[in-house]
Parts: sequence; C-alpha cells; structure tokens
Amino acid sequence: MHLSQRIGRIEPSITLALDARAKALRAAGRDVVNMAVGEPDFAAPQVARRAAIELIESGDVKYTPAAGMPSLRDAIASHLERTRGGSWSRAEVTVCHSAKTALSSTLGCLVEDGDEVLVPLPAWASYFDQVRLTGANPVLVPSHRDAQGFHPDLEGLRAALTPKTRGLMINTPNNPSGSVWSREEVDGIAEFALEHGLWVLSDEIYGELIYDGGTLASPSSHPDARRCTLVVDGASKAFAMTGYRMGYVAGPEELTSAVATMQSQANGSPNKVGQVAWEAALRDVPGELEEVRARFVARRDHILAGLEALGLETPRPRGAFYAFPNVARFLDERGSVGFCEDLLESQLLTLVPGVAFGLDDHVRLSYATDMASIDAALERLGAFLETR
Ligand code: PMP
Ligand code: GLU
Repeated sequence: MHLSQRIGRIEPSITLALDARAKALRAAGRDVVNMAVGEPDFAAPQVARRAAIELIESGDVKYTPAAGMPSLRDAIASHLERTRGGSWSRAEVTVCHSAKTALSSTLGCLVEDGDEVLVPLPAWASYFDQVRLTGANPVLVPSHRDAQGFHPDLEGLRAALTPKTRGLMINTPNNPSGSVWSREEVDGIAEFALEHGLWVLSDEIYGELIYDGGTLASPSSHPDARRCTLVVDGASKAFAMTGYRMGYVAGPEELTSAVATMQSQANGSPNKVGQVAWEAALRDVPGELEEVRARFVARRDHILAGLEALGLETPRPRGAFYAFPNVARFLDERGSVGFCEDLLESQLLTLVPGVAFGLDDHVRLSYATDMASIDAALERLGAFLETR
C-alpha cells in the first residue's frame, strides 16, 4: 500500500495512545493508575444526557446543516457574549465534530504548503502534527517561566517571524501547564498579530476552568483583534462531554463559512445527538460549573502540595486540570519518554512525557481523576523517584 507523504509526516496522538494502553492494562486485570488523559471523571450534565435520550427516542436523529443546528449556533453565540463580551451572531459560529476537528478544519482553511505557524511552548501535543498534516510547518517558540507558570515571549515570537509566517496557535488556560495568561499578555499577542498581519487561532477549551479569581482573556475581546481571531472551544472539558465529540470555531464569517464548506465535503453535518445534548447543557448549566471548578481546585491543591512534598518544582496551575512538574534531574538519555516508560513498567502509573508538549524536562499529570487516584499516583511517583 502506498501511503501519502502527508500521513507520513505525523505520529499517532500520544495522549490517546497512552490512555488506550492504560485502559488495556486495566482490562487485563492490572492495577493501573491512569493520570495520562485529560478526561473528566464525572458524567455529562444531567440535562445533556436527558436531551440526548429524548432525541434518540423521538427517532429524529437526522442530518443537520453542515455548519450545525441554527439553535445551537445561537446558543454558542450567546455563550460567547457572556464569556468573551461583545456581540456575536450565528453566522460567526460553525459547530464541528470536536474541538480537535475545529482546530484541524480551521488550519485547513488558513494555510498552504510550506507556510509557518508560531506555537508558544509548552503546547498541546496535537498542535504540531495538526499543522504538519496541512503541509505547513509548526515553529516552536519557548516561553518565559516563573512560579506562576509560562508566559508568552513576544521578543522570541518576533525573532521567529519569517515571510512564511501566517499565524499563531495559543491556548490559555494551557494544556499541559495550567498556565493562564493575563489580559495584558493576550493583548500583547493580539497587537503582535495585528502588526504583522497574522491570524491568532485561540484554543479556549479550558476557558471555564480558571481558578484563584482569574478570568479568561481572549484575543477576540481586544478592541481591534476580533477580525484576526479564531476562537476554538468545545464540550469536552467543563461539561465532561468527551464522547459526544462537540466543538466549534467562532470568528469572521469568511472563515466560519469556509470551515462549514470543508466540513460539508469532509465530514458532513456534526452528530445531532451531541448537538442537542450540548445545546441543553449550554442553555441550562452555568450553575453547575461553580461546583465543577471547586472540585478541580481541591484536586489541584492536593496534587500540587503532593508534588512539592516530593521535591518536584511545579508551576502553579491556575486553570485546566493538569500539573506539569520539572523532572530534569531524574532523566537519563531517553528523556521524559524513558521516564514515563520506566514509571509505567515499575509502578503501573501512566503520565505523559513533556517532550510531547515541546518540553522534555517535564511530565504531565492530569488531575481530572478522583482523589484516591491522585493519592495513589503521588505514592507511586514517590516510590519511583527513590529508585532514580
Ligand atoms: N484543545 C486542547 C488544548 C485540548 O486539551 C483538547 C483535549 N482533548 C482539545 C483541544 C480537543 O478536545 P476535543 O477534541 O475532545 O473536543
Ligand atoms: N486533550 C486531552 C489530553 O490532552 C485528550 C486527549 C486527546 O484528545 O488527544 O489528554
């Protein structure tokens, strides 16, 4: 079989592969603690589950428009007004099969072969290969680091510009570090993009999961940058609707309608069960989100204290549900991959190697799990570090 060069450029998703490996070991009766995947351990909101069941029982699970159901697009536009400010219309929203698809379809509509996309580090593992899949090249740019996390380095971004640079992919709150950028930092990115004629693909999927009184800063709220910003968000995180596969891209109509056109040929209309369930959640749920945040804060505090007690320097996660400790002094020549392989082998604990996110000195733990798993993970990690 002759496979395309395009598919030869990419690797399978490391987060999904590790999750599958942990689940297979567990199915085989092994006592694995899985801190690899970023998937909330609780169920989707009850209103969403009810809406899905009612729709299925009505028999009306049919195609919808390729851009998504008008009522869901309206609900997303209202959600954007509540959370990002300004006024948003249905035409500026295209519903996609997941945030992952929203990112890849948007990139597919924005870049040509050989173009460059700036990606501040650390960055979610899939960005690099999603850019490569389009034929463009990701350009990885290190960030500044302090105890509060990673901050954009505008000078570094400026130095990375070439005539082929088309845009940037940013993600605050950040997977894998939990860093949350300030309004000033995001405005700095927005102004940099405006100055150089770039777009900003802003992955805001953890926007509802910000702690310690912080708020979401979206480049779409910058007075001038709305025209060059594409916001991506989805149902997988605060609503725990991972398996429903729902996301969207919001931005200038030219782009959202291009994504709908691409989708109409490549994927068809998004899954109607997921759309109806998500619309119910968006219209009803905000009250429950306080509880979700409180639950994550308790887990964040617990895991952070545990990692610090193990002597692992960890930037304070102020959003999302990941901790990203520095394990540099425990690494051998195989780097973070070797560390995670040995940890799984000897302690049956799954973490994600930092190299997947562009920083080999780190590992990522997802704390979207129950407290007992966090305790077990800390205990196993502690036992493992003693052997290094
Ligand atoms: N962006 C980021 C930063 C993520 O962590 C995830 C996690 N899956 C996604 C996008 C994609 O989410 P989904 O495909 O489940 O909508
Ligand atoms: N975003 C999650 C993670 O980083 C889910 C896995 C994935 O979609 O690749 O673990």
